[in-house]
Amino acid sequence: MDIINREHQSVFQTYKRLDIEIVKANGVRLYDNKGNEYLDFLGGIAVNLLGHSHPKVINAIIEQINKYMHISNFFYQEPQVKLAEMLKDITNMDKVFFCNSGSETTEGATKLAKKWGSVNNKKDIISFTGGFHGRTYGALSLMNKPLYMEGMGPYLGDRKILEFNSIKSLENGIDENTAAVFLEFMQGEGGLKVVSNEFVEKLKELKKKYGFLLIADEVQTGVGRTGKFSFYEYFDIEPEIITIAKGIGGGLPLGVILAKDNIANLWTFGQHGTTFGGNSVSCVAGLVVLEELMNNNLMEHINLVSSYLNSKLNYLLNKFPNVVNEVRGVGLMTGLELKMEARPIVDKLLEMKVVTNATSVNVLRLVPPYIITNDDIDEFISKLEIVLTDFNLSL
Ligand code: PLP
Repeated sequence: MDIINREHQSVFQTYKRLDIEIVKANGVRLYDNKGNEYLDFLGGIAVNLLGHSHPKVINAIIEQINKYMHISNFFYQEPQVKLAEMLKDITNMDKVFFCNSGSETTEGATKLAKKWGSVNNKKDIISFTGGFHGRTYGALSLMNKPLYMEGMGPYLGDRKILEFNSIKSLENGIDENTAAVFLEFMQGEGGLKVVSNEFVEKLKELKKKYGFLLIADEVQTGVGRTGKFSFYEYFDIEPEIITIAKGIGGGLPLGVILAKDNIANLWTFGQHGTTFGGNSVSCVAGLVVLEELMNNNLMEHINLVSSYLNSKLNYLLNKFPNVVNEVRGVGLMTGLELKMEARPIVDKLLEMKVVTNATSVNVLRLVPPYIITNDDIDEFISKLEIVLTDFNLSL
């Protein structure tokens, strides 16, 4: 029996998998069991920031597992503390809580905001249409995604989902009962949509008036993805809580909640915790990610290659106005809004040995590893051009 049938018979059928078995990955290339090589513009869904099998990540992991892997959060662990210190320095936050995934950061941040609200007599958590914060109950409660939610309610109360980028919706929905606003400054699953400056200005005004917490969900946009460490830095506003995950663990599970002291200190012993959070192996991989990003010119590289990619995507927009509607995104979280469904384009690209992703039905999403080069981009664009030419002709 082949792996597809075996998987179908033994694993929950919740993922729409590509019909490929990957046996090896290196840099920006994936290799299947038939010897095919793929150019990876998905990067494990915005995870493999340094590419696959980065030698420094592998060495750090080997060194750590030879010392210890999991010892529990009953003990002090140098990799955890060092990573916390580095993250604090980079973000100007005061304290770090480690967990294992993006959803867990959402759960933790929501609990923390509720705790803060209980002290400050505020209860509502605000989020926005099109947002994505994870698959747990708390996260789903902040979202309006029927497919993910149907038949599994009821969801949490004391929450309001306002219209993304609508100033009126902010004005009508936020008041003295608002404890926190949960925001992706650029929606990833929601189709690479960026908040407008006017929206942020209104949020800032209301924040001053009502004094709620702003939680920046940087799970997908964070850790340099957009050319700054956190995407909110492009805007004139400061969050009290930041959540990051995906790439921070260098390919291993790791989520981080960052907060100012007056908020972090509301959690006392036993109020939050997790068995694996801040696992030493994930943390040493995270240290390599931060070292490369902040001290080895990777951020500069992201800005250079992403502006090259952006110019090439704009070339395709101009060449195929019947198929492409808009170039979306910032930095290496980018893509094309199409005038057709994105999935057929993703499938065709895969036939040409390029891995991409469709989101929000008609958006081709590109979240490649940060180490891509202009040559990788040229290869990608030339294949995408062939695919778009075919669809353009068949219109
Ligand atoms: N928040 C955002 C913005 C995300 O993009 C995701 C995942 O895609 C999550 C939260 C949930 O993260 P995870 O899948 O690690 O639970």
